[in-house]
Amino acid sequence: MDFQRLYQQLLQLDQRSYKAYKQIAGVYQFAGFQLSIDYVQGDPFASPSRLRVQIPQTGSQETDSGIQSFPEELYRSHSREVALRDYLTRQFAQVAAEARGRRGSGNSGLIAIAPTSQQVLERTSVLITSKQLEARFVVGLPARGRTILGKQAAELLCEDLPLIVDRALNYAQLNSTALRHHVETVEDADWLRQKLAERGLVAFVANGAILPRQSGVDDRPLIQNALPFESPASLQVSFQRPNQGEISGMGIPSGITLIVGGGYHGKSTLLKAIALGIYNHIPGDGREFVVTDPAAVKIRAEDGRSIAGVNISPFIDHLPQGRSTEQFSTENASGSTSQAANIMEALEAGATVLLVDEDTSATNFMIRDGRMQALIAKSKEPITPFVDKIRQLYQDYSVSTILVMGGSGDYFDVADTVIAMTDFQPQEVTAQAKAIAQQYSTDRTPEGGSQFGAIAQRIPHFSLLQERGDRPPRTKVRDVDELVFGAEAIDLTAVEQIVEVNQLRAIGAALTYIQQHYLDGQYSLKTILEYVMADLQSSSPDVLTAFPQGDLAMFRPDELAAVLNRMRSLNTTSQPKAHPLA
Ligand code: ADP
Ligand code: MG
Repeated sequence: MDFQRLYQQLLQLDQRSYKAYKQIAGVYQFAGFQLSIDYVQGDPFASPSRLRVQIPQTGSQETDSGIQSFPEELYRSHSREVALRDYLTRQFAQVAAEARGRRGSGNSGLIAIAPTSQQVLERTSVLITSKQLEARFVVGLPARGRTILGKQAAELLCEDLPLIVDRALNYAQLNSTALRHHVETVEDADWLRQKLAERGLVAFVANGAILPRQSGVDDRPLIQNALPFESPASLQVSFQRPNQGEISGMGIPSGITLIVGGGYHGKSTLLKAIALGIYNHIPGDGREFVVTDPAAVKIRAEDGRSIAGVNISPFIDHLPQGRSTEQFSTENASGSTSQAANIMEALEAGATVLLVDEDTSATNFMIRDGRMQALIAKSKEPITPFVDKIRQLYQDYSVSTILVMGGSGDYFDVADTVIAMTDFQPQEVTAQAKAIAQQYSTDRTPEGGSQFGAIAQRIPHFSLLQERGDRPPRTKVRDVDELVFGAEAIDLTAVEQIVEVNQLRAIGAALTYIQQHYLDGQYSLKTILEYVMADLQSSSPDVLTAFPQGDLAMFRPDELAAVLNRMRSLNTTSQPKAHPLA
């Protein structure tokens, strides 16, 4: 249908009750693009209506409508495509916010695309192929009370929207230099991350990077008084990036790395930047070239969480009353058991690097010094501290650890690399730390044994989901700290590497998807994660939902596992051991 018809129809709906808006669902042809009104809200206070625009792409050719296609080189690699889609999402958001000044209040008159963060993620808000560009967004159809404002709606959809499309999705109207920079930065960062392993590194922090943030609730870079990062000479490495040429910075080798230094000297800030180095960042963020092994997982203590059948025996054994720790379950974990479970679950899901900060660790999980060993016999202490397992973990499973530890020198013996933060600047102090370890013995008796122990695979069951039959449970996401899934609110405060609600919404959809496809009591959690990620890779996050949604963003298997592991309704059985003769 022609957009003029939509205009007329909206004028005719003026003053009618809000429900009458339902009639406008459908597809409309505009000059240069097509508008699909997929879902119409039934009430002005309900969640807004869902719409899409589709713009034909013709490579580099001009079209009659004046909307210019995007050059294919801007999306010729997966990295570039993700970056271009991210850029256009931000552009749409900005232009729509400017247009918003002019009409309506509340939801009424809103045009909005899924919100973004400092991270560049694969999003479903904008999609592009060599044939078509698609943008998905929401609209608050205008009302006064529950009465339709037809003229406003007509102007919103038939005048404002074409303007937004022209300013946000027409290549001719964009800042091509900024767009190219966005795309090339992301491609270079992906390239760097992929180069880490062959250089024997688990993380890279570029010289000049700005790591501190504006505040604990504002992830934009600190502008005033931020000291740019500068690598110590002994750890400096250089790369030749495909787009932006040579870059130097600090390489953190695989193995065990300690970050030491006085309080308030920038240790946690460095570790946080490394934790988010699993993602790419927008140009100007300051962390564009802080890149980390893609399977690095931030670990912390999380007392109060539930644990379902996790083998925590490498760290915790012979509990009082003879409770087993090979399939340990609790509704209310302690600091140390939660930290042990967080590590074992991360390893089960495939983590290759652990990131640990003393600020958010349980003391008795991290250290047990010589004096305490003398007072409390090992037979009366279920916990084997991390210091006695960190080396074995690397030896047996090649899992590296980067650990912030300003409070105890007990880790000097097991460290490969020691970095001291002084006035926000790193120095390498490995030799000094080793000399001190030689000179002053800890008088500790190692408690960890020569091996790390087994990393068990569990088969998950979520009973709550199965009871609800084929109706998928409702998921609700308000911020990155909680996913409401059916009757359950999953607390994710301690899962620090989920950065956007869009990711959480996708993870919620993935839980339902798992239930529908892979929850047969046979597949291990690890296998399920592999299947889901493979499905996502071969199509897109759209496979997770019944209809196209614009508010999903990609996540790692590690975060999907983290959410699943925190469901209080989760049950698990341990995977039957393979027959020795099979
Ligand atoms: P630590 O973990 O060593 O106690 P933090 O990393 O928490 O220290 O940093 C302390 C404060 O210093 C924070 O407010 C942080 O934002 C700020 N900060 C960290 N790095 C820098 C830097 N490079 N330049 C300026 N301020 C910084
Ligand atoms: Mg700190």
